[in-house]
Amino acid sequence: MKTLIHSNIFTDEGYKKYLLVENEKISYVGNKNIKFYDRLINLKDYFIYPSFFDSHTHIIWYGLNISRCDLSNVRDQDEIIQRIRDYISKNPQIKVVIAEGYDETKFTKNFLPSRKFLDLHFKDKPVILRRICGHIAVFNTEGLKFVKGYIKDFPKDGVIKEGIVLKLNTLFKPDREELVKSFKKAQEIFLSYGITSISEMATSDALELFEEIDPILDIHFYFPWEFEKKLSGWKDKKNIRLKGLKVFVDGSIGAYTAALYGRYDNKKSGKIFIGKETFKKIITIAMKKGYQLAIHSIGDRSTDFVLNNLPEKSNHRIEHFEITNQEQIKRVKRMGLFLSMQPNFIGNWALKGQMYEKRLPDKYYKFNNVFKVIVKENIPLGLGSDCMPPSPMYGINSLSIAQFQSQRLDFYEGLKFYTYGSAFINGVENIVGKIKENYKADFIVMDKRIEEKNVKILKTFKNGVEVYKSKKERI
Ligand SMILES: [Zn+2]
Repeated sequence: MKTLIHSNIFTDEGYKKYLLVENEKISYVGNKNIKFYDRLINLKDYFIYPSFFDSHTHIIWYGLNISRCDLSNVRDQDEIIQRIRDYISKNPQIKVVIAEGYDETKFTKNFLPSRKFLDLHFKDKPVILRRICGHIAVFNTEGLKFVKGYIKDFPKDGVIKEGIVLKLNTLFKPDREELVKSFKKAQEIFLSYGITSISEMATSDALELFEEIDPILDIHFYFPWEFEKKLSGWKDKKNIRLKGLKVFVDGSIGAYTAALYGRYDNKKSGKIFIGKETFKKIITIAMKKGYQLAIHSIGDRSTDFVLNNLPEKSNHRIEHFEITNQEQIKRVKRMGLFLSMQPNFIGNWALKGQMYEKRLPDKYYKFNNVFKVIVKENIPLGLGSDCMPPSPMYGINSLSIAQFQSQRLDFYEGLKFYTYGSAFINGVENIVGKIKENYKADFIVMDKRIEEKNVKILKTFKNGVEVYKSKKERI
């Protein structure tokens, strides 16, 4: 089956008119009018771009989140209470309410949710509020009772950071049916955002789900190093490939746990969660088994720890790499490391008046998420969303409105690193990430050029097949 598409198709050599898809791949792209084909799709008023490769996702976690009580964009305490009440009335049989995604830096008034606040409104039902970063959660007294085997004392304010907070999904384990259902829901959303490949930072129970599903997305996954032994029986599937191990070195800025040399506004400077010996042990395992490491490091102190302990040459990835300096950037380049960064963080927290400016010393505020500096150094860079939200266009827009020149990338640079760049750090840059002959026919159709205001994704194609169609489009 040969499908010819007539449109404005973005390639490395500018926009072209025709795209021929044959056996899931692109067999021709150019301006020549092809005569032999089985089907013609006319999209000549629209624009075609390679579909996105999100280099850092938690699709399983995201799927569970969207079926849980959603606290994204809540503005005050009344709204928190209301959303939880609505959720309970829709899910009366629920044993523990896990409400996800609040961000106190977006509240209209200064307010921090606490155990007392939750107890006041939810005395009998276990309620847990997890912050948008996933590193910090607030429990009511009933909620604390649920995790009492895992903590020493009940914190007075009900706040717990890291540890069990990162493992809530394992503690409150959904059954397999629920997992599959929420994965499919999340996948639909990803496709609607134009994503067709992901690097999934998986949780330890992901293998059960991976064995069950036959996803549309190409999934390259990284598994928590603590559970590496569970991987012994794993065999890659057509669309699900094991790439390596995920390692946490520090926390997040939102939770005041990213490890800095400087201090936050609360005088703390974050934390390195892993010992040198353990880190070295993980590197040895990775070398022996051919795993690529995806190393979570946000603060400059944490990144020094990583750079000081990695071997001189390796192709491991550093995830986030938000607070850094020129010297570290040069070292990353020299050592041949890959970076996986999140432009969404600029839109969410790095603009004027947002969290970074409030919490971080001036020198960090003026030199964070320095995409442009990194691109100029030619360091392999993939872009990802961290599901906050899982929208590449939100990230690409954020790059264009960034406060500082050191952060700003234009739309075409953003597109390049959200497609080819991510494919490169996953080692599949010769298969996906471009519209080019012999590449997979993975692409999106937009109503306008990518740099125009309010562009919409009308369709997403994976292996030449339409897998998403916008309800609003007129085709
Ligand atoms: Zn993440």
